[in-house]
Amino acid sequence: MSDSSSSSNASSANVKQPKGSHQFPPETTTIGMLGSGQLGRMFAFAAHRLGFRVHVFSPESASPAGRAADFETVADYDDVAALGEFAKQIDVATLEFENIPVASLRILEQHVPVRPGPGVLETTQDRLKEKQALSHAGFPVTEFREICSLAELKSAFDGDTAAILKTASWGYDGKGQSRIQTADDLEPAWETLQCDRAILEAFVDFECELSVIAVRSVTGEVACYDPVRNEHHNHILSRSVSPSGLPEEVIEEAKQIATAIVDSLSVVGVMCVEMFLTRQNRLIINELAPRPHNSGHLTIEAHATSQFEQQVRAVCGMPLGDTRQVRPAAMSN
Ligand code: AMP
Repeated sequence: MSDSSSSSNASSANVKQPKGSHQFPPETTTIGMLGSGQLGRMFAFAAHRLGFRVHVFSPESASPAGRAADFETVADYDDVAALGEFAKQIDVATLEFENIPVASLRILEQHVPVRPGPGVLETTQDRLKEKQALSHAGFPVTEFREICSLAELKSAFDGDTAAILKTASWGYDGKGQSRIQTADDLEPAWETLQCDRAILEAFVDFECELSVIAVRSVTGEVACYDPVRNEHHNHILSRSVSPSGLPEEVIEEAKQIATAIVDSLSVVGVMCVEMFLTRQNRLIINELAPRPHNSGHLTIEAHATSQFEQQVRAVCGMPLGDTRQVRPAAMSN
């Protein structure tokens, strides 16, 4: 079975048709979930509705996902023996957040399909690698530079263009970020980050922020939800609204970009593509999350198929569900 089917058409259609699929029978299949928070919990509910069993693996006991799952392994993500035992008890593995060690996924991959695969995580858990991959593939990103010292930061900052300094790895939800307006901000920004590898990004003067939840199946079928409009406070998502009220051509372009990204990374599973719409009406990609996302929670009530059911469908080789919105919705974080 291959997870790297290469369907590279960036179709604007909502759903690409499956070209044959490999499905696990629900009644005998156990899905392994790395991570045990609220995303894993909502995933477990969706998996149960489709008849699958869920085995959670994480360092926490009595976790939100663990309490909803059928089985729970409590061990560190790099516990090789526990990963080996876990692999024997599951048929396929997925994850709820991107900061799982890639080496752990490579161990599991020797025994069961891992969806999304380690290659996707390797790219998306490092902001620099992610921006480099996107930029090399021709996707629109803001200007960025790798920064490994205060001296490099001082020489990279031009004095007038506002910028954001972010840790290259282990950053999410605005953690590990400092805004730079003037040269006086450089030293405090570098000291605050406490890292030896960072990314300096040109500040994007955006009209609004949006995200597209895209899902790609084992056979290369892609389904995208319409973009959700997001508001952040202090770099943290505070509100998501759908429908977004964005012009139709922006909606279509955002979905085409998200489709092309999941194709180019050969994602199997759900990916959230966060974007800025600039005041010049240009879409720029901010960040990728290779999993269900807070901005997609409203798909549970507002869409024909939730993002969590889509993740179950994708990782189990099923055809994808309908992404149609059935009622308006907002999410407050
Ligand atoms: P991130 O953790 O990279 O997704 O950033 C969190 C939030 O910080 C984003 O959703 C934006 O609101 C803001 N932000 C991050 N990078 C930039 C940027 N280059 N320009 C403007 N705002 C940004």
